[in-house]
Amino acid sequence: MHELTCPACGSPSQYNFRDYVLSCTFCSASFRFDAESGRKDLFTDHYIIPNTFDQVRVKEHVQEWLKRLHHKPGVADKEFVVLDIRGESIPFWVISLEVHTAWKGLVQRNKRPTDSKLGSEFIPESGNFRRTYRWAINARTNVCENWGMARLHEPKEPVGVTWDGFPMDSTCSRGRITPATEGEKSFYDSREFFEFKYSNGLPILGCQIDSDEALRRAKTHVEWYHYNLATLHCDYLLDSRHESDIAGIQLVHVPFWHATYAYRPTNFLRHLYRPVEKHVVLEGVRGGIIKGELGLIHRDKVQINAMVTAAAALIFFIMGAIWSSMFMLVALFFGVVSGMSAYIAMIKLEERKRMTHLVTPHAVKTQ
Ligand SMILES: [Zn+2]
Repeated sequence: MHELTCPACGSPSQYNFRDYVLSCTFCSASFRFDAESGRKDLFTDHYIIPNTFDQVRVKEHVQEWLKRLHHKPGVADKEFVVLDIRGESIPFWVISLEVHTAWKGLVQRNKRPTDSKLGSEFIPESGNFRRTYRWAINARTNVCENWGMARLHEPKEPVGVTWDGFPMDSTCSRGRITPATEGEKSFYDSREFFEFKYSNGLPILGCQIDSDEALRRAKTHVEWYHYNLATLHCDYLLDSRHESDIAGIQLVHVPFWHATYAYRPTNFLRHLYRPVEKHVVLEGVRGGIIKGELGLIHRDKVQINAMVTAAAALIFFIMGAIWSSMFMLVALFFGVVSGMSAYIAMIKLEERKRMTHLVTPHAVKTQ
């Protein structure tokens, strides 16, 4: 930390020089500082989306979300315990851009052609599409310091996300518990020129990434996304070209809340299920659940099933050994079910691992 005087109001304050943009705690003016020349330049493209939430409301929203997911909403309050709630105003570079993609590939015919020549069942196809985004790039060096922030983009298309950036409008408007009111501002439009007071008590994290890197990353992310979209149009994608038009870039502090909770079943499952901490991320304007881990996921249930049926198989095996070999057949049945459940649970775990550590798209890797 070093002391500097603010170029706008002249008040002395402590600053971390590793931050790309510095903000005066007295007048909220933002500026860039060049340590070599000592030059200070006011930075005006700095905004903040006001935080309107507090711990009590975050807890209410998380409980409401859990209640809606639970098959018996009445017992949700007893079975789910909210453990920890924390909020932060995180800096993002928001890049407005339009990306145009032209692709070319081969599509398999529905009917097999009479001609048996190799490759004759494929016909060449081409097309193009254009989309505009307000793409958000986390301005922190470690995008994993906050849970869930590294993979916020959830496209409607069946595309495996391998990038940390996301389209701000669709991402920050999802997961709402309260219905939208008429004439309300969009998430992005609720931003104000940066002032500390708009964080409403949340700690404000510093911007550590420069705008050039943010632009480069946004372009790469959208092009990867568009490459993946192009592969959905045909069976063999041969070529895809992307042209990006950057319309603007702004630094925006965005309020996010992170809550952890545990699932503690009240029925017989509590003997079989070890409570694990689960995470939920909310945006701090309307409390939308942007990302959340489910209390008891399908894999857990399959795993429990495997354990229960394995126990049953053992009991019937012992009964079969003592009394009648008929029980052996029942034991065999439970043994098979248990084995299958364990196998499915294993596959689900592998699938999840693959989805969370996705590899780079093929074309990028091999070029
Ligand atoms: Zn100042």
